[in-house]
Amino acid sequence: MSRVYNFSAGPSILPEKVLETAASEMLDYQGSGQSVMEMSHRSKVYDNIIKTAEADLREIMQIPDNYKVLFLQGGASSQFAMVPLNLMNGSGKADYVITGQWAKKAAAEGGRYGKVNVVASSADKTFSYIPKLDPSTFDKEADYFHICMNNTIYGTKYQTLPETGDVPLVADLSSCILSEPVDVSKFGVIYAGAQKNCGPAGLTIVIIREDLIGHARDITPTMFNYQTHADNGSMFNTPPCYAIYVFGLVLKWLRDDVGGLEKMAEINRNKAKLLYDFLDSSKLFKGTVVKEDRSLMNVPFVTGNEELDAKFVKEAAAAGFVNLKGHRSVGGMRASIYNAMPTEGVEKLVAFMKEFEAANA
Ligand SMILES: *Cc1c(COP(=O)(O)O)cnc(C)c1O
Repeated sequence: MSRVYNFSAGPSILPEKVLETAASEMLDYQGSGQSVMEMSHRSKVYDNIIKTAEADLREIMQIPDNYKVLFLQGGASSQFAMVPLNLMNGSGKADYVITGQWAKKAAAEGGRYGKVNVVASSADKTFSYIPKLDPSTFDKEADYFHICMNNTIYGTKYQTLPETGDVPLVADLSSCILSEPVDVSKFGVIYAGAQKNCGPAGLTIVIIREDLIGHARDITPTMFNYQTHADNGSMFNTPPCYAIYVFGLVLKWLRDDVGGLEKMAEINRNKAKLLYDFLDSSKLFKGTVVKEDRSLMNVPFVTGNEELDAKFVKEAAAAGFVNLKGHRSVGGMRASIYNAMPTEGVEKLVAFMKEFEAANA
């Protein structure tokens, strides 16, 4: 068996140790005689799995007591609707910053339920930067202020959060959750699909301040009401049981093997620096994002020649570096270097890029 270095944007690489544990427990989870996939979500064994995952997430992210953690399905894309259905209940208005396709989709969905004010956009330069925000342009009556924290497709990230005052900040952290510490108390709602940085597809994590729960519109489907899930410990219906179990294994790895979020952030900064430093010195490859807004997780780059880009992607795949093709809307390449990508994977990719540059100069 040989494993590749997987630079996929999502679903994406998972820690090998997590996969090994999941494999070893596949037929018999800790003496239960069953796979986690087969057991009742109401069983004592499973109850311990979901409660431990929540407790570990709370500990690792230092989530304050006045926040609920919800384990949902439907992906981050369902949150694009759940947020307005539950939060657009005062003025019926919300502020959105458009920093890419996900932010745009979130705003479009918000617009189906109320008035969306686009505070700023970086569409003019293919979302290669995070717009400077002027708080005087924010709507003080807005029910919430929405951002996409890390833009998976374009490789940008907010380095500082917008100052939204009393207006709750709602953030899509799908591709950066658990990559570095965040101050949860600065947010009203954090949501993330697990399949980028912390688990398999099928699990959506929502971290929500308690006072924002319980005000959903009457038309809100029961399953789209945060209260339904908050009142039932994410067990109103069958939760994504197996995905939560694997997410729990990732959290254990993050805490016990990596050493927590500060340590993870240090490793991630180092990995990103290896790649960005090379891109900045290369005569062939260059990064597509302005330096000050660069993501630690998704690193898009180009050669400036589409044929050469295609050649690189093909040769890289043959050498064991897979899923490096950029998103169809940006072209070129993108290396997603999530938590589970070992430093060695990035070092070897850079070495391969150097060889490719020398051979194609
Ligand atoms: C992948 C992604 C989404 C969409 O997630 P789904 O779970 O497929 O709905 C939304 N936002 C961001 C930032 C993403 O990276």
